[in-house]
Amino acid sequence: MISPGDSGSDRMHGPRGTDITCQEALDRLFEFLDGELEPEWMERVRGHIAICRHCWPRFDVERVFLDHIAARGLAPTRSRRLERRVREILRNAAE
Ligand SMILES: [Zn+2]
Repeated sequence: MISPGDSGSDRMHGPRGTDITCQEALDRLFEFLDGELEPEWMERVRGHIAICRHCWPRFDVERVFLDHIAARGLAPTRSRRLERRVREILRNAAE
């Protein structure tokens, strides 16, 4: 039996307008920041961030970011550039 009106629970995705979940966005966050994603995913993550303002504070991005830098042993200049981008995106996402 198919009920055309019953379409509320078949998509476990994020808010309307984005086709990836918060988790998928987070999984790719630093590849996104590093510009290492395929163009298709760059757009998806960017689109998600623009629309979903909830995932940033929830995922404690700054802490994840610092862990990321520590794990990768990025040079300070590189880290600063990355940090600036994070803050920029956070600011844009919050407005
Ligand atoms: Zn999200």
